[in-house]
Amino acid sequence: MIHVCATCGTSYASGAIPPGGCAICNDERQYVPPTGQRWTTREAIAARHLNSWRQHAPDLFSIVTTPRFAIGQRAFLIMTPAGNILWDCIANLDAATRTLVEALGGIRAIALSHPHYYTTMQDWSDAFSAPIFVHADDRRWLMRNHGAVRFWEGDSFDMMPAIRLIRLGGHFPGGAVLHWEKDNGSLFVGDILQIAPGADRLSFMWSYPNMLPLPASVVAAMARQIDRYGFDRMFGAFEGQDIWSGAKSIALTSAKKYISHLAED
Ligand SMILES: [Zn+2]
Repeated sequence: MIHVCATCGTSYASGAIPPGGCAICNDERQYVPPTGQRWTTREAIAARHLNSWRQHAPDLFSIVTTPRFAIGQRAFLIMTPAGNILWDCIANLDAATRTLVEALGGIRAIALSHPHYYTTMQDWSDAFSAPIFVHADDRRWLMRNHGAVRFWEGDSFDMMPAIRLIRLGGHFPGGAVLHWEKDNGSLFVGDILQIAPGADRLSFMWSYPNMLPLPASVVAAMARQIDRYGFDRMFGAFEGQDIWSGAKSIALTSAKKYISHLAED
């Protein structure tokens, strides 16, 4: 039986529950609730939750689990002429989701921003015969080995036509965003870049639940990477984190602001 951490959604290989608890939640970038570690199963999640869909554009859907499960992030189904991409992942892969994704053409490739969203990506890969692309610098956070996982290295990786993964680091060493060239360009950022509630500015953190910031030098390096690519839209990990125009300028201005707040008087 596969065990799934109820706090972060990470799935662990069949057999014994990890003796030390969930390694992802024991890390300072996540947390163990005061009530203690809790495990669940994929079947229990599917029995108590369902996935809701939002269509952002004719070729762009997001999928989120309701009522919220674990971290509560959304995954995106990006439809390109070369095939569909699942960007980031959610733990609940229920029968309805399988049927709907299949009807939309399946999944050609899965790509992840960082380990908090790896969840049950191995099951999504099995269901749609899709390779999984994660950055090699986060290799140690893969809790369930799988033959479909491909580790990419360096600062960028041309995954498919018009689709590129870019490593920004920050929250995780291999923290990645997805650049889609279509129209004026879109950047899918997970929470490697955190879109603020007004969808008009960003933040940059090392640990969100524990509210630990990133050093100024790291944010400056992230901004330099971002500056190399053209994009107008940005989509974050949570519902409402959608920027429809001016996203690049918002990203660069926000980085500058953040760095100025870290500076000494
Ligand atoms: Zn966990």
